[in-house]
Amino acid sequence: MDVPPPGYLRAVVERRLDVADDLAVFWLRPAEPLAFRPGQYVTLAMPAGRGVVKRAYSVASAPHEPLVELVIEHVPDGALTPVLWPLRAGDAVWVRRKVVGHFVLDAARTRHVMACTVTGVAPFLSMLRAHVAARTAGETADHRFLVVHGASRSAEFGPYRAELARLAAEGWVIAVPTVSRPWADPRWDGEVGRVEDVLRKHLDRLGWLAADVAGYACGHPQMIETVLGLLRRARVDAAHLHEEKYFTVGEAAPAVEVEAAPPPTVGRRPGAVVLKTAPRPADPEA
Ligand SMILES: Cc1cc2nc3c(=O)[nH]c(=O)nc-3n(C[C@H](O)[C@H](O)[C@H](O)COP(=O)(O)OP(=O)(O)OC[C@H]3O[C@@H](n4cnc5c(N)ncnc54)[C@H](O)[C@@H]3O)c2cc1C
Repeated sequence: MDVPPPGYLRAVVERRLDVADDLAVFWLRPAEPLAFRPGQYVTLAMPAGRGVVKRAYSVASAPHEPLVELVIEHVPDGALTPVLWPLRAGDAVWVRRKVVGHFVLDAARTRHVMACTVTGVAPFLSMLRAHVAARTAGETADHRFLVVHGASRSAEFGPYRAELARLAAEGWVIAVPTVSRPWADPRWDGEVGRVEDVLRKHLDRLGWLAADVAGYACGHPQMIETVLGLLRRARVDAAHLHEEKYFTVGEAAPAVEVEAAPPPTVGRRPGAVVLKTAPRPADPEA
């Protein structure tokens, strides 16, 4: 670990928090500070076998924070995460100096609909933490955020459930954690079900104007397809729909289910986001 590959720096693990058997938060201190925009991703590298394995990780921390925070899921048959998993405070990893990515806040819109599965919350945390700093400095317009965070069980929300709840208490974030396996989580009293279904319910209730909305989906590829399809049908402009897919699934993935239309809502503002399945407006990607 002494000589990083070209373009990479040594980064020391300052702290690690295991939030579930296969999920941990790592705080890294790179040899030099990294410049990035909230929502972008770093590339980590480690020697593995006779080569070096490199993988992308969204940064959860905001640019003004001193450590680079990453939320990582252990993929047992993966190439990099089994090598990362034994790392503890004081150990080192390589991180690419250049941080990249297009999954950043869509500043042209003021209503931000954010959907994520488990580790996919990371880029949204970075955007929200940066937004907190901008709000404190009085440097931002009136933005609102709906964040639907899905996981199998509530332990997978880690420290972020409380963090998002704190922002929600300030009134500019609507934070909705949802679990898909409530039977494994008997004390859970929050939302239950898939991200796309829960998001649909809350978005319909909010009645935001489609022309104000930017949509973002991050994490599991199938959730992303469903959420972005749903937002397109709600007439959110495709130019304001953003995705960050963490991996790809094989062709055997189950088909996306289409839900029944919700009951009509009375007194909605013209142009508000209303989610319908029938009749279905033109879907640019159908
Ligand atoms: C832009 C971007 C940002 C990312 N950010 C994060 C992040 O913040 N946190 C994070 O944990 N991962 C993130 N990923 C995924 C990450 O880059 C790795 O793919 C992941 O950690 C697995 O790496 P691996 O080498 O252990 O497994 P690989 O050898 O890459 O994968 C082995 C197999 O597992 C599948 N797989 C990979 N990840 C998952 C998963 N989470 N669930 C189920 N199957 C999976 C792959 O499709 C492949 O079939 C991101 C990916 C991208 C493209």
